[in-house]
Amino acid sequence: MKLLITAGPTREALDPVRYLSNRSSGKMGYALAQAAVDAGHEVTLVSGPVSIPEPAGVKVLRVESAQQMHDAVRDRISNVDAAIFAAAVADYRPVQAAAQKLKKSEPHLTLQLERTPDILGSAREVFHFGGLLVGFAAETENLIDYARSKLERKQCDLIVANDVSDKRIGFDSDQNAVTLITRDGRTTELAAASKAEIARQILLVVEQLAAKG
Ligand code: C5P
Repeated sequence: MKLLITAGPTREALDPVRYLSNRSSGKMGYALAQAAVDAGHEVTLVSGPVSIPEPAGVKVLRVESAQQMHDAVRDRISNVDAAIFAAAVADYRPVQAAAQKLKKSEPHLTLQLERTPDILGSAREVFHFGGLLVGFAAETENLIDYARSKLERKQCDLIVANDVSDKRIGFDSDQNAVTLITRDGRTTELAAASKAEIARQILLVVEQLAAKG
């Protein structure tokens, strides 16, 4: 199979030296890319800024902002059989990045933010992607309900639901524990394990879904 995977955070520029971002390490998406090449798939990884090594045998495209990640995905998604969106894309960005470094003059500073493009939400509706679509749902409450509604709204085949309120797992941890939710409403719990192991299990489900067509 040909796979497109997004990973890592995005950075949304405030000025030439500052940005808004999040705590994503990219480890889950990179582990998925590694597991996929190990299983013999052809992988393109669209990666936000991370400080972990690139998996061998993977074509890596480095991007910074949500807009750049969106454009990289838009330009490549029609060539793949499955797309796995593990990136923690910033939901908002400054309306305008200042051309020069912001000065500390006033006691308060108000930032005006706007929504970034919803890459997962664009896959079906805008990019007309007909392949297998996998989204992640990182939540701190109502994990399964939110994840199910995301699966419907974004027309995914599979959602990987991640409880990021649990400090032992998730962001920056080498471990993860997730619940897989498929279109038929079935849920599968993957108990805490290394991200490499969780990635292999997710990939097995992706391969099974792809085989079913
Ligand atoms: O809605 P939420 O951000 O929780 O959705 C998470 C899923 O959507 C992840 O798969 C993430 O990679 C993807 N996403 C995206 N583009 C955005 C925001 C989220 O592709 N702008």
